[in-house]
Amino acid sequence: MIKNIAIDGPAGAGKSSIAKIVASKLGYIYVDTGAMYRAMALFMLEKNVDINDEDAIGKAAGEADIKIRYENGVQCVILNGENVNDRIRTDEVSNAASKTSVVKKVRERLVALQQELASKENVVMDGRDIGTKVLPDAYLKIYMTASAEVRAKRRYDENISKGMESNLEKIRQEIIERDQRDMTRKESPLVKAWDAIEIDTGDMTIEEVADRIIGMI
Ligand code: C5P
Repeated sequence: MIKNIAIDGPAGAGKSSIAKIVASKLGYIYVDTGAMYRAMALFMLEKNVDINDEDAIGKAAGEADIKIRYENGVQCVILNGENVNDRIRTDEVSNAASKTSVVKKVRERLVALQQELASKENVVMDGRDIGTKVLPDAYLKIYMTASAEVRAKRRYDENISKGMESNLEKIRQEIIERDQRDMTRKESPLVKAWDAIEIDTGDMTIEEVADRIIGMI
């Protein structure tokens, strides 16, 4: 029997770092659905599609061929034949992804791909609508949160450690705006599934959260 784990929550709650540890300890496949929405956003930016024009995004979405491949256990997002992992982690793409992901056509295509991946193997999948829409029958659902301040500080520290210039207040504002868009959109907004277990990661280490989830399994 397939046992999938769904992890949802806002940006910077710790989903991907924790999901990777849980997946590796359980021998499951980690599926980062945000990366797929990011690849779609990158496609729109490169094609100069107006990311505020939902009709134009819907039309162009059909031309983006997005696939997932695993290389040495690492998820690679392939956009029209090219591995775009290194190009989807910019602030520009983060903000564009939360705009292009409101479009129904974008979501339909990516949800189908996500459901196909989860039907074949045990996955730990993270995103915004995994417990509510993509895997409503998941074996375990987690809703991860932390305050906007904690989440902004994590992103800021990450940027600084990479030697990137960073502005804490700007990051905090962008996180709040992105959450607002993700939580209030019409298509699959970010909400806690009724049967999800909520974990506030603010005062916990990544290892502590991962151990708690594995304990639940
Ligand atoms: O998780 P990540 O920050 O990479 O996601 C980027 C954006 O993609 C989110 O802000 C959200 O708008 C969108 N997304 C989504 N549904 C998912 C995963 C991500 O709408 N399952």
